Amino acid sequence: MKKFLFLDCDSTLCAIEGVDELAAMRGAETEAKVIDLTNDAMDGRVPIEEVFGCRLSLISPTRQMCEQVAQKYIETLSPGVEDALQELSHHGWTPVIISGGFTPVIEPLATKVGIGEVHAVGLRFDEHGDYIGFDEEAPTARNGGKPQIIAQLKKDYPGCATVMVGDGVSDLETQPTVDLFIGYGGVVAREKVKEGARHFIHSFTELPKTVLEQLKCNH
Ligand SMILES: [Mg+2]
Repeated sequence: MKKFLFLDCDSTLCAIEGVDELAAMRGAETEAKVIDLTNDAMDGRVPIEEVFGCRLSLISPTRQMCEQVAQKYIETLSPGVEDALQELSHHGWTPVIISGGFTPVIEPLATKVGIGEVHAVGLRFDEHGDYIGFDEEAPTARNGGKPQIIAQLKKDYPGCATVMVGDGVSDLETQPTVDLFIGYGGVVAREKVKEGARHFIHSFTELPKTVLEQLKCNH
């Protein structure tokens, strides 16, 4: 039986918000605007789709900027991630990133920690590496996108086991769709997620035990 370990990226697998880092490269004013929009979305005050294109237009990230932030993702990898993934993979769990972040920024981190599947938002660049748009069809550019991806995978792998780990409201939205939702507060503990999540951890060192204990009866 297939066992999926779904992981958020920003403020979960790593300690930064990629979009905020990209914004910072465009100066303090852009950064402040983008951070406000991100927090509004992550705390559930406004729908993700309302802020998504707006943030990207403000930032207009180049391919080179994405490469720099990709490196930062790797440098700020959350403690214990690699050990936790290794232990869970011994128990048959396949890690998959589901993120509202940008695919070209996330993929190098995924490769580094041995995650073969990434569901995120693609970006388009012109021949000079300048930003020309994002994949508007990407489910995670909207609220409800993460549960939608998980529901599709559950259809493709009937009877699969599913765990989701994340820090944000868009992660918490998956709780009714997965067998086990685990809120993550190792970078930022969001009140709404802490209140809503039936399980909550502050470190990846707690992850294997939480997954294996909670799901041992069912799977
Ligand atoms: Mg996050």
